[in-house]
Amino acid sequence: MPHTVGAACREELRRAGLPGQGAQARLLALLRTAPESHLRVAQVVRMAKEIGLASTPVELAGHLETLADHGLLGRLPGGAEPVFDTVPEPHSHLIYEDPAQIVDLDVSSETLLAILRHALAERPDRVEVIIRLRAGRTAVKGCTGPRCADTPRCGRERNQNRQHDAI
Ligand SMILES: [Zn+2]
Repeated sequence: MPHTVGAACREELRRAGLPGQGAQARLLALLRTAPESHLRVAQVVRMAKEIGLASTPVELAGHLETLADHGLLGRLPGGAEPVFDTVPEPHSHLIYEDPAQIVDLDVSSETLLAILRHALAERPDRVEVIIRLRAGRTAVKGCTGPRCADTPRCGRERNQNRQHDAI
């Protein structure tokens, strides 16, 4: 993987309050360069094996949970098996069950509503909508921790203008 990706990932980890080295840093760099952005643990285990990352599946699952807990990965709600998202910022998804596919909807609110209207019109008995309001955005007002200003989890800086007044 490119050297700059590794350096950026180590910096991301340090800013999130994590060690910024070792298996976690290699894993984050692997995920940041992965062609697929929505990954199950089994997929990550295969990818880690390919680059010779000597972590057990249980260790990798633990690293993924830690990275998600620190806002460096997203976590898709629902489902029997956790799906991690290499894009940690809030965004919408279109999830097909058959064949299994998850598509990012990085679109405007208008387009999102148009997609929803279209899906409801085409398959009214097969569409399920989940609206998730992330906890980190609503807890910002009372948050005074040292990580508050610069971590993706809190998102105070990045989302200050569009999220604080909206909720
Ligand atoms: Zn996504």
